[in-house]
Amino acid sequence: MRTAACLDEMAPYLFAQIDAKRDALRAQGIDVISLGIGDPDLPTPPHIVDAMAEAIRKPANHQYPDYAGSPAFRRACAAYMADRFGVELDPDAEVLALIGSKEGIAHLHTAFVDPGDYVLAPSIGYPVYSGGATLQSARTWFMPMRAEDGFLADFEATPPEVLERAKILFLGYPNNPTGACAPVEYLDRAIAFCLEHDLLLAYDNAYVDICFDGYRAPSILERPRARECCIEFFSLSKSYNMTGWRIAFACGNAQAVAALGTVKNNLDSGQFTAIQEAAAVALTGPQDCVDEMCALYQRRRDLVVDALRAIGLECEAPRATIYVWARVPDGDTSASFAERLLERAHVIVTPGSGYGPDGEGYVRISLTTPDERLVEAVRRIKEAM
Ligand SMILES: *Cc1c(COP(=O)(O)O)cnc(C)c1O
Repeated sequence: MRTAACLDEMAPYLFAQIDAKRDALRAQGIDVISLGIGDPDLPTPPHIVDAMAEAIRKPANHQYPDYAGSPAFRRACAAYMADRFGVELDPDAEVLALIGSKEGIAHLHTAFVDPGDYVLAPSIGYPVYSGGATLQSARTWFMPMRAEDGFLADFEATPPEVLERAKILFLGYPNNPTGACAPVEYLDRAIAFCLEHDLLLAYDNAYVDICFDGYRAPSILERPRARECCIEFFSLSKSYNMTGWRIAFACGNAQAVAALGTVKNNLDSGQFTAIQEAAAVALTGPQDCVDEMCALYQRRRDLVVDALRAIGLECEAPRATIYVWARVPDGDTSASFAERLLERAHVIVTPGSGYGPDGEGYVRISLTTPDERLVEAVRRIKEAM
C-alpha cells in the first residue's frame, strides 16, 4: 500500500520522541523527572468535576452533540469573552466549540490552504501550525524570532513571493515556548499587515489566563478591526487543568468560523455535550481556581529561574505561561544540552530546536511538576553541571 506523500514530509512529533526516551530509562528502573511536556499536574477544580458528574447522568447528553457546539456552551463562551475582554460576540455565528484547540488549529489548514499555498508561522512555536500545513501539502514560511525583539515574530520580513501565496498568519502570545508576551501595538501592526495582505490571523491564546506579576494578557479581538481578519483560539486545557477533557473554542471573524465549522461538520460530530456543560461552568463560574493556579506557577517560576541563574544559565523570568525558556551553555546545542541533562541528571527538558529553526540554542523547562520534584530536578541539574 502507498501512503500520502505529505506524510513523508512530517517531522516526528516532538513529544513522542521524548516520551520514548523517558520510557526506556524508566524501564531500567531509573527515576526520571520530566520537565518536558506542558501538562498541568493538578486535578481539574472540583466544581467543574461536579458539573460533569451531573451532566453525564442526563440522557439528552448521550446523543450526538450539536456540530458547532451546544447553544448553551457557545453562549457561555460569548459571555466569557464579554466579561473578560469586553468583546461582544454572536454565539451562533462567531463561536465554534472545538475538541481541544489543537484540533481546531490543525483543521484550520483544511479550511484555508490549498496544496502549494503558504502559512506564516513563528520560527519558534507550537508544531501544529506548520504540521497542519504539511498535511495539506502546503508550505510554511517561518517568521524570524529573536531574543532582542522580545521574541515577537517578524512578519514584516516575509518575502513578497511568499506573501502572494500565503493564507494564514499564526501568532500566539503569551507564547509557548518562549514565555514572551506581546504589547498591543504589536498586535495592531499584525492586524494591519493581515488586512493589507488579505491573510487570516489565527491567534492561539492558550495561556491567556496564566499570567504573573499583575500582567493581564489581552484577547486579540479587543483590538480595532480584529473582527475583519482574526480567528482566536481559547482552550480550557491550561486555564482549568482540563488537558484530558479536550474542550476549547474558536471565535472571531464569522467567515473564518463558518469555514472551520464546515470542515468539522464533515470530519467529526462535535464534543460530548456533557463535557461542554461542565466547560460552560468553568468559563462562567468562580475564577479563584485560576488565581490560585497562577500563584502556584509564579512560585515555581521563581524557583526555577533562581536556580538556573545560580548555575550560570541565562533566562528571563516570564510574565506568563507555564514555561521557562533558557539559553543553553556556550558550546552546547539544544539537543546536546537536553541529552546531557537526561543522561547525567535524569531530567527531561525540551530542546528548543524542536519548536522551529530559531529555537536552536534554547531549552524549554515546564513548570507543571509538583514543587518537591521541581526542587529535586533543580538540585540534580546543579550537580550535573
Ligand atoms: C497546549 C497548547 C494548545 C492546545 O491546547 P488543547 O486545547 O489542549 O488542544 C494550543 N496551543 C498552544 C501553544 C499550546 O501550548
